[in-house]
Amino acid sequence: MTISEQRAERRQDYDGASAFPEAEQHILVGPAQAGLTAAIVVLPFIGLGIAIFLAWGQGVTLTDLLLAAILYVVTGLGVTVGFHRLLTHASFTARPWLRVALAVAGSMGFQGNVIDWVAVHRRHHAFTDRPGDPHSPYRYGTGLRGQLRGLAHAHLGWLFTDDQTPVERYAPDLLADPAMRRVARAFPALCALSLALPFLAGWAITGTLYGGLTAFLWAGLIRVALLQHVTWSVNSLCHVIGSRPFKTRRHDRSTNLWPLALLSFGESWHNGHHSEPSCARHGLDRGQIDPSAAVIGLFERFGWASDVRWPDQARLERRRAGPRQQARAPARD
Ligand SMILES: [Zn+2]
Ligand SMILES: [Zn+2]
Repeated sequence: MTISEQRAERRQDYDGASAFPEAEQHILVGPAQAGLTAAIVVLPFIGLGIAIFLAWGQGVTLTDLLLAAILYVVTGLGVTVGFHRLLTHASFTARPWLRVALAVAGSMGFQGNVIDWVAVHRRHHAFTDRPGDPHSPYRYGTGLRGQLRGLAHAHLGWLFTDDQTPVERYAPDLLADPAMRRVARAFPALCALSLALPFLAGWAITGTLYGGLTAFLWAGLIRVALLQHVTWSVNSLCHVIGSRPFKTRRHDRSTNLWPLALLSFGESWHNGHHSEPSCARHGLDRGQIDPSAAVIGLFERFGWASDVRWPDQARLERRRAGPRQQARAPARD
């Protein structure tokens, strides 16, 4: 039996409660990449400290907050509507210029280049909450200690393990698209632009370098950190706490977590999403606010998006979970 066959067999043996076979294999990324990832994660908090120090007693300027809000919305929708719903799951077809614009906006969110992001996320759907999932909070089992360790891994720790997702296997469509390859190559430049824009805007609006600096801190670093942690919370919290109104595949414990709905642009209706992955709307029930779906609806009205996969009510009712499946929501069962 080859190693991969052995692994596949062990995956099938997975009982839904014990640690993954690979749980204790911690092959760390190289020092250069670890340093870079750590810098990307830590720098915003140094920025936050400086920003609070500068703002102490005089408040933050409206300019800083407005710039932060605009960039949060643009880069956030780039990730949710672009990277996730369009490029990973093909929930709709976009005009070529819109496809590129969304990929560029998402790249400015500091979450990796578009092709890697899509490959990792497709792998997450292929192996949700079982061995092979790149960021499952159940990696270390469902005991209390394992669960806490798993949450830390799913939120942030997975970024530091050398667990390459082969893009040839998971994102061949994007690799074959010259425009997407170009956007992926431009990722470092787009990150630089994502920080330079607020600095230049703050400088231009206030006419002072100090104004540029505070805009850089709030609308650059702090905005990036907030979006990162909201996205990572979908990976960690939205597989552990919340409700499970819809059926998902075996072992998949994705949840709907309403407090994050607005900040995550509808992505925290994660149980709805895992139940119907290619659906353009993740908030499948009434009152589940889903700004990303609203934006896709606008694109459709303008004629920029077509073949939008909106929810099918009859199908949804069939996907509704019975009390037994809903009860699988708690961390330990
Ligand atoms: Zn998930
Ligand atoms: Zn997804």
